[in-house]
Amino acid sequence: MTDTQAQQRRSQPSDLVRHDWHRDEIEALFQLPFNELIFRAAQVHRQFFDPNAVQISTLLSIKTGACPEDCAYCPQSGHYNTDLEKEKLLEVEKVLEEARAARELGASRFCMGAAWRSPRQKDMPYVLDMVRQVKELGLETCMTLGMLTREDADQLAEAGLDYYNHNLDTSPEYYGQVITTRTYNDRLETLANVRDAGMKVCCGGIVGMGEERNDRAGLLQELANLPHHPESVPINMLIKIPGTPLENVEDLDSFEFIRTIAVARILMPAAHVRLSAGREDMNDETQALCFFAGANSIFYGERLLTTDNPEAQHDRALFERLGIHPLDPRVEASDESTEHALRADVAAQSAPWYDALQSGQTETAQH
Ligand code: SF4
Repeated sequence: MTDTQAQQRRSQPSDLVRHDWHRDEIEALFQLPFNELIFRAAQVHRQFFDPNAVQISTLLSIKTGACPEDCAYCPQSGHYNTDLEKEKLLEVEKVLEEARAARELGASRFCMGAAWRSPRQKDMPYVLDMVRQVKELGLETCMTLGMLTREDADQLAEAGLDYYNHNLDTSPEYYGQVITTRTYNDRLETLANVRDAGMKVCCGGIVGMGEERNDRAGLLQELANLPHHPESVPINMLIKIPGTPLENVEDLDSFEFIRTIAVARILMPAAHVRLSAGREDMNDETQALCFFAGANSIFYGERLLTTDNPEAQHDRALFERLGIHPLDPRVEASDESTEHALRADVAAQSAPWYDALQSGQTETAQH
């Protein structure tokens, strides 16, 4: 029996969700021949999700620039001189206008980001109002506002916030090269506060910041060994912004990016692995390989916080060419229950090929 056959035989969905990954196991996955790695990732993907469904989120910056943190990749940091136009906290009505437009474009989740170290008490009533009103439009809500105390997290959860985004960014070892104004532990504490308040977690990182493969493995290890896997795992490719300390860092090979997606899928089989920032610099073929390797979420629309994102129309055309349809937000995989995983597995076994007609109907029904 080959390694692949043995692995296939062992891989029941319930065995695949683990929280005890060792760094050398993860590095061994990264070192697999490319085809072997993405094939294994695709197998895991099919056990937990419809492989032709991609969840779509739209992101709006609700407060832009002048952030006191010093994240070396970020044009919003007040520490660096970039061409970014700063903007105060947006009015609730403006946010709702954008949320309605996102819904029209097929987004199921609306993410709102503010460049803060942490939210100020005087801003909380506006932020909570945004959550309530965006939810009333029938969209899932996500926010990223910096570090949260348990009290902040409770207030957001009570307002109905579904997801909170707070990234670990990179491995604990490389972290100090990228950020000095908050610690890795600060981040883990915010994630624990979000989880304890009952919200879902969106947490990932950025690759291509000059880190080594070992750091990419370290980031994924931290994420996979959290007590509960994040429901969303954004994997960003660095966008090199002039004026930031990382503007001249060396490019990451796109195959290494796809490998990172594949390893994330294997380590966190029930999470939505998201192609986030940097997607506009990827060609369609790279994105297609990412979807095959297990990416099943994207940001969609014209803007991704402060950086250009491929236009919605191009994304739609790519989905059509690949036979991909938007994921129904009511269908969630969970590492608490493998029931959906098993159902998806059965469905994947019995209908492995994409049915374009059926998919088109699904899409129409959702809008
Ligand atoms: S905390 Fe967020 S907005 Fe502020 S500099 Fe870091 S990444 Fe940018």
